[in-house]
Amino acid sequence: MTKKQYSIAIDGPSGAGKSTLAKAIAKELGILYVDTGAIYRTIGYYLFCHKLDPKKEAEVMSVLPQLCIEMKYEPDGLQHMYLDGKNVTKEIRLPEVSMYASDCSAHGRVRTFLLEMQRRLAREQSVIMDGRDIGTVVLPDADVKVFLTASSEIRAQRRYQELLDRGTNKAYEEVLAELIERDYNDTHREVAPLRPAEDSVIVDTSALDFEQSKQAVLSVIREKVRL
Ligand code: C5P
Repeated sequence: MTKKQYSIAIDGPSGAGKSTLAKAIAKELGILYVDTGAIYRTIGYYLFCHKLDPKKEAEVMSVLPQLCIEMKYEPDGLQHMYLDGKNVTKEIRLPEVSMYASDCSAHGRVRTFLLEMQRRLAREQSVIMDGRDIGTVVLPDADVKVFLTASSEIRAQRRYQELLDRGTNKAYEEVLAELIERDYNDTHREVAPLRPAEDSVIVDTSALDFEQSKQAVLSVIREKVRL
């Protein structure tokens, strides 16, 4: 298929390497990278700061419509998140925010509220979008769907290293336990649970390094889209 505009969906559990890979592939193909987890993290960060309970849908929905959540692409080419005008790109990566993001993302009304924002980006330009439900719900007609995964231990090891590089020293066992809990939440929720779309290609990166993973995903893309 030769297409002027196309969309690539990358789904998978946390720590599978979705964002690092998607970012690199977006750069190589000259298309937009959209990290949808960052949107849920921005809401999670707000709830965390205001001591609101992310498990209570009504509580989340009572504040969500009033929040100004913006995604801006700055000269560094990266996606920055703004909450009520403040750049919160760094803050949303705090480990405490991850569970808030996961808990608030389980609510149907929260997901519906964010759907159009994500779809609009893919209508306007070629994108590679990563998340949990991109191939199944957000972009069911995506030209390419990849489900990126790796063993829990490998993913926890990567997340542990990532945190360490950012100056957060958290025990590996704790990182692994949280990752397993978040996986459970994401795969067992009623609305848009994490699962591979039927027409997705599963790429397991457990035994692959970054370059090998990138080549594996690029070859899936090349099969579907003539670049
Ligand atoms: O990808 P990331 O780990 O930053 O996402 C944080 C949380 O947001 C995930 O654990 C998941 O619960 C939620 N999420 C989601 N759907 C997406 C992207 C993220 O439910 N498309």
